[in-house]
Amino acid sequence: MKDVLIVGSGFAGLSCAVEAIMRGLSFDCIDMLQDHTSTRIAAGIINPVTGRKYQLQEQYAELFEAATVAYRKIEQLTGKTIMQQLPIFKMHKSEAALEAWIHASRQTEKSTYINSTPSPQKWHKHIDYRYGSILVESGARVDARQLFEGIHALYPVQRSTIQYDDIELKEDYCLWQQSMYKHIIFCEGYQVKNNPWFKHIHIRPSKGECLLVRIPHFNCPVIVQKHTFIVPYGDDRYWVGGTNDFVADDDAPTETKQEELLDGLRDTIRLTFEVEGHFAAIRPTMRDRRPAVGTHPEHHHVHILNGLGTKGALLAPYHAHMLFNKIFNQMRIDPKVDVQRFAL
Ligand SMILES: Cc1cc2nc3c(=O)[nH]c(=O)nc-3n(C[C@H](O)[C@H](O)[C@H](O)COP(=O)(O)OP(=O)(O)OC[C@H]3O[C@@H](n4cnc5c(N)ncnc54)[C@H](O)[C@@H]3O)c2cc1C
Repeated sequence: MKDVLIVGSGFAGLSCAVEAIMRGLSFDCIDMLQDHTSTRIAAGIINPVTGRKYQLQEQYAELFEAATVAYRKIEQLTGKTIMQQLPIFKMHKSEAALEAWIHASRQTEKSTYINSTPSPQKWHKHIDYRYGSILVESGARVDARQLFEGIHALYPVQRSTIQYDDIELKEDYCLWQQSMYKHIIFCEGYQVKNNPWFKHIHIRPSKGECLLVRIPHFNCPVIVQKHTFIVPYGDDRYWVGGTNDFVADDDAPTETKQEELLDGLRDTIRLTFEVEGHFAAIRPTMRDRRPAVGTHPEHHHVHILNGLGTKGALLAPYHAHMLFNKIFNQMRIDPKVDVQRFAL
């Protein structure tokens, strides 16, 4: 009998796999391995300061520490580069945005993360930052593909689609395709809506779209943020995104959102560019904007890690650690993120 069956290999499932590896637990990870899932198309940006009011991410230091430990562990084991320190050059969009920043910057804890007078760089001449800018120095990027490939090289992720009827819950273990597991952890992203044990959680999926764009001569080594994020992918290529749509329930790229992204890009840089790719996927966003972590109220060996919304790269490792502490060390789940906050 293995310790864990992990369903899903997005940021949530992969972070559970990292926890299992660090604890020396036996596990299988399965996924239907679609090309364009939320994790696969995400840029993996980690950003301590977000929103129009430049809010500092709650618990940022702890979240960042857990993410660093987890991603560095897989880097050590595989030699891959997964997490890269990448400052975010954030331009104010208007006079009002500049005012909001001046107000927000009075809170001193933000100064640890931000340099409010970034020094001039060569690539600055290609961008329009007439309302000023700040440099978020502790930004980072997690390369989800490298993370997947790293884990997959250590413990192959099996291509399979879980049919929920095939899972048998026994008194002390779960049975799936003649294999026995002490625990099963569901990490299916927005597809949790089909899961008979967890479809009651208050998920509010949001469709996101992004572009892969070639911008010769930009040579920008940092993440640029104005209307959207522009993330350097190497070889003159940049990820541009992402949009947000709480109404659409399909994952097809749309012309409307492509235009929205291109308008934002044109208003940010003064260079010609060429679109090489356009992708869409559904994020597992929660109505209360908090992750859903923990154990099913009636089945003590059935668990979930979901609801990572727009911040899977930062949130997944910390909450996977919390979940494994609950399962294997009988520690408590923070009530703010406990899945038991949702009535069956
Ligand atoms: C355009 C866009 C840009 C984004 N940018 C960022 C960013 O810069 N930084 C950031 O932190 N986050 C970003 N996100 C959000 C981030 O991608 C999500 O927080 C994260 O992907 C959620 O991970 P997850 O593992 O919960 O879900 P998913 O990535 O959706 O993974 C779930 C996995 O489960 C599998 N699965 C589902 N059901 C089954 C089943 N029955 N059997 C087998 N497998 C199954 C799916 O195939 C999938 O691989 C972005 C999202 C989008 C769409």
